[in-house]
Amino acid sequence: MTRYNFHTHSHYDDGSQSLEDMVKGAIDAGLSAIGFSGHSPLPFENEWSISKKDYPEYLAEGRRLKEVYKHLIDVYLGLEIDYIPGYSDNFRAFMEDGGLDYCIGSVHLVMKPGSRRREDIWFIDGPREGYLEGIDRIFGGDARMAVEAYYGQLEEMVATQRPGIIGHLDKVNMHNREEVFDSSAPWYLNAVEGLLAAIARYGGIVEVNTRGIYTGKSPDSYPEARVLKQCLKRNIPVMVSTDAHHPEQLLSQFDEGVRLIGELGYTKMTTPFFEAAI
Ligand SMILES: [Zn+2]
Ligand SMILES: [Zn+2]
Repeated sequence: MTRYNFHTHSHYDDGSQSLEDMVKGAIDAGLSAIGFSGHSPLPFENEWSISKKDYPEYLAEGRRLKEVYKHLIDVYLGLEIDYIPGYSDNFRAFMEDGGLDYCIGSVHLVMKPGSRRREDIWFIDGPREGYLEGIDRIFGGDARMAVEAYYGQLEEMVATQRPGIIGHLDKVNMHNREEVFDSSAPWYLNAVEGLLAAIARYGGIVEVNTRGIYTGKSPDSYPEARVLKQCLKRNIPVMVSTDAHHPEQLLSQFDEGVRLIGELGYTKMTTPFFEAAI
C-alpha cells in the first residue's frame, strides 16, 4: 500500500514538533511523500495559525527540507488555508506569493452571513462550550442557521478559490453528537449535497480526515462514510489524511481510512501529485 501524508502541522502552528521532525518521522514510517500544511496566517491574533512573523521562516524551512531530503522522500510545501469571507479569501495570493506546491482549503471559523465583524465569527473547532456558545450568541440559538452558514461558506470557498483538497468536510458535526442538530434531516443532507455538487464541478479532492477517530473526538472520519458514498456517486476523488500534529500521528488510522474507502467502492486514492491503488 502506498502511504503518504499531505495534512501535517508543526510548531509553526498548533503542532509540537519541527518540520524536520515530521520529515524524519515520515521516512521512518515508510511514507513515500509528506506535505506541510500549516494553518495559514490570519489577520487577527489566535493561538493556532502560523504568525505573520514566522511565515517567511516556515516557507524557507519547508523549501530547505525539500532539497535536503529529496533522495529519501518527496516533500511538498503547502498550507491549510482558512477561508473566511472578508478576512482570508484569496488562495491564489497565498499560492503564488509563497511558491506553494498545494493547499488544503478548510473552514474552522464561520462568518455569520452578511456580517464582516470579528465578533460574528463562530469557531467550530475549539472546546465544545465555545461551539455551543457561538450558536447561541451569533445565530440566536438556531443550530440549523449556523450549520447552513458553515456549508455555505465551504461552498463559496470551493466555487471561488478552487483548493486542490477540501479539508475535513463535515467537521461541523464533531461537537454535535446528535444533540445539537439532526444530521439526517433533509436540510442537512441538502447542504452537504450542494457542497459536493460544487466540488464535482471543478474536480477538487476530498480528504478522508482521520484525526477525530484517533483523538477520540468522533467515531467517524471527516467526512463520514455516508457522505463519502455520495462523493463516489459524483466521481469526486478522495485521499486519506491523518491531520498529524506530531510525527507519531503520521499514520494514525491511515490504513483504516484506506480500507473504508475501498469498502465503499473506491479503487484508487488521488493526491494532488499522484494516484495510488487501494
Ligand atoms: Zn483543519
Ligand atoms: Zn489540519
